[in-house]
Amino acid sequence: MTDIMLISGGTLIDGTGADPKPNTGIAVAGNQIIALGDEATNLVNDPTTKEVTELNAAGKTIMPGLIDSHLHCSFDDVQSNDELFFHRDPTLVALVAAQNLRKMLRAGVTSFVDPDTSHGIGPALRDAVNAGVVQGPRIKTGVQALLTAVGGTAGRLIPDEGTVGYAQIVNNKDEIVQWVRRHIKYGADWIKLHATGSVPGRSGELLVWNREEIKAACQTAHELSVPVMAHCRGAQSVQVCAEEGVDLILHASFMDDDGLEAVISNGSSICPTFTFLANLADFGSKVHASPGMEDIFRGEIEQTAKMIRKAYDNGVRILSGSESGFALTPYGHWHGRELEIFVNSLDLTPVEAITTATKNGAWAMQMEDQLGTIEQDKLADIIIVDSDPTEDITVLNNKSEISTVIANGEVLNLSELWPSREQLAGWKVGNWASEILTWDKAYR
Ligand SMILES: [Zn+2]
Repeated sequence: MTDIMLISGGTLIDGTGADPKPNTGIAVAGNQIIALGDEATNLVNDPTTKEVTELNAAGKTIMPGLIDSHLHCSFDDVQSNDELFFHRDPTLVALVAAQNLRKMLRAGVTSFVDPDTSHGIGPALRDAVNAGVVQGPRIKTGVQALLTAVGGTAGRLIPDEGTVGYAQIVNNKDEIVQWVRRHIKYGADWIKLHATGSVPGRSGELLVWNREEIKAACQTAHELSVPVMAHCRGAQSVQVCAEEGVDLILHASFMDDDGLEAVISNGSSICPTFTFLANLADFGSKVHASPGMEDIFRGEIEQTAKMIRKAYDNGVRILSGSESGFALTPYGHWHGRELEIFVNSLDLTPVEAITTATKNGAWAMQMEDQLGTIEQDKLADIIIVDSDPTEDITVLNNKSEISTVIANGEVLNLSELWPSREQLAGWKVGNWASEILTWDKAYR
């Protein structure tokens, strides 16, 4: 005798890339999908069924919960690197992250991948969610990102050695091997390399690892059955990382044909994560982002999108990532935006775009057998959307359109207030001013 939840009457987009199926029933028992279609509907009259809770989804769309393959759950919508690296108490980082997890769930994100976490809290947070200590999406996570002393995107804030914020500095092959092993011991599901970094006075991001170093990281991780991802904002980095065994390329900015060839022959996947760039380009002026960046980022998206489309046509697995965790990409607001960009800039159909946040995301979660599609025996991570994302993909980026979130078989209470909090002492870095107060500005 089982209790069953029957979701009835809705149109099913199952996440496999198949065409939507109207009026398809879905039966859930415990945390599992146990039947679909007529078989699900018939369970209502089955004598072995104890109690049926029916969720009427007529006129609505039923989909797998969204899988965000690139976000930073411990960054707390940060406004500057200074804040991120030097002003965050580790205990508060964990407590605040736990609150932010609830925002993501409410936006329909039932799983995410986090490459690197402040103070390395990722594995502990993941374990706390799995054990039911805190409520949140399923998590797969790195510990900290591995950076060479050149750093990533924080320039000279990155020390020459040691650990700071989400960064672990590695200075030679021995340290790379050591830290990959340590992170795996501390519970890393992924190893993240910050393959490119910005150097003051040089344009763009440069590849700041050499080939042997990347190879050492990949070999060491792979020997312990842990995959490797790399932040690659530059053509050369995409090619070298793919050639040396990186499993997941983040950004792949300015990828060229040689890079694509390496990605294809290594079987790497790509998570472009256009959302941050697109938000800055489209809305940066609304939040006083550094002026002048709009055109640069719009150009980066345009140029990169052509190659990502080519990769897609060549069978490369493309993932949806939002880069949530920054002031430009706050939690719970932008997890569906990447799909809109995939439809508009890559010319994917909405159903194809949805696959990047469902079936393909399950690969990044290393749970392809259990997640990402609505099929019998999969885990019950399901969202119900009021309107039709195949008509308008942007509805997936609008929380008010997501009327039901079922995570691990449990229906979330969306009538609860949005998680909020008072200011935390010392958490934000105050700026004296965002512009220079010249005499002219004051009096002219
Ligand atoms: Zn990122």
